[in-house]
Amino acid sequence: MNVGIIGAGQLGQMLALSGFPFALGFHFLDSSPDAPGARVAPIVVGAFDDLASLRELAARVDLVTYEFENVPVDALHEMAAAKPCFPPVEALRVSQDRVLEKELFGRLDIPTPAYRAVDSRADLDAAVATLGLPCVLKTRRLGYDGRGQRVLRRRADVAPAWEALGAVPLILESFVAFDREVSIVGARATTGETRCYPIVTNTHRGGILRVTLAPTRSARLQRAAERHLERVMDHLGYRGVLTLEFFVQRGRLVANEMAPRVHNSGHWTIEGAVTSQFENHLRAILGLPLGDTSPVGHSAMVNFIGTMPDAARILALPGAHLHDYGKTPRPGRKLGHATVVAPTAAGRDALLKRLLRLVPP
Ligand code: AMP
Repeated sequence: MNVGIIGAGQLGQMLALSGFPFALGFHFLDSSPDAPGARVAPIVVGAFDDLASLRELAARVDLVTYEFENVPVDALHEMAAAKPCFPPVEALRVSQDRVLEKELFGRLDIPTPAYRAVDSRADLDAAVATLGLPCVLKTRRLGYDGRGQRVLRRRADVAPAWEALGAVPLILESFVAFDREVSIVGARATTGETRCYPIVTNTHRGGILRVTLAPTRSARLQRAAERHLERVMDHLGYRGVLTLEFFVQRGRLVANEMAPRVHNSGHWTIEGAVTSQFENHLRAILGLPLGDTSPVGHSAMVNFIGTMPDAARILALPGAHLHDYGKTPRPGRKLGHATVVAPTAAGRDALLKRLLRLVPP
């Protein structure tokens, strides 16, 4: 059985690595011939919106999935006529537009920050007047890792933010003074069976995920997050892994966004859970039984952004696992990550402290 993966970044690479024990073969589509996935499987080199490349990928495999959200939906629809594609293209369509995403959350009774769609400077002024300051202006599409967004704290921030972002459709959201950020990763199989991982706590720097702590023990938040995730998955007739990111504000979950794919905040599951998110994604899209999502201890995942630390020093830490994606260093680029796993939360926190000392600031 051969699986096509659109996008050969580190997520695609880790998906393929998790599928080799099942004797699966993989082919990627990526515009870059030396993307991380090239180390583990062949790449069809082409643009994500190039139908000929998508068709070539489809011709080589039995089914297709994606690790990358900005694949044009129309091209994917066409390709999906040739080979099955999971998660459903509709999930991708919704997740590509922050307004569609929030409308879906609203329909499914999932709380979000207050928001307004913004298509003109007049819209922006009206939205700022309605939502009040501070607020966050974001591009509706193609934003990730904090790119394409500005926090507006004073009236004087409005004009420069409009100058910087106003060329494309925008969304204005009220600023959530959150206590922390959490996410939930879960898988849904064709049978409708779902398995959710424990919620995890995420710390960002400059809009980029820096540290994930797993598990976050709160039976109440876990129940609420699972309810929200399952509602979205059921609504979309989902197959595969889905991630929801939340703010926790005064003990309540407020949804920020969804990702219809394996997620950076689920990397800890490779060593810290019975079954990894990558394996469960493959099980779900292949129609196999889902694996146990229980944690096997307490984990911390640290992203290496812009610079890789010294590998030998990381590996000298007990319980540390290193993932180097083999990418050329560039400021703000995710180059790798490490996960530490310990039997107790206190043990994990002590290891995390030592790990963070080895990571360039
Ligand atoms: P996003 O690209 O929407 O995931 O945003 C990146 C990060 O910016 C989030 O993880 C938050 O730390 C912060 N952020 C985004 N939206 C808001 C908001 N409405 N209120 C407060 N912080 C936000």
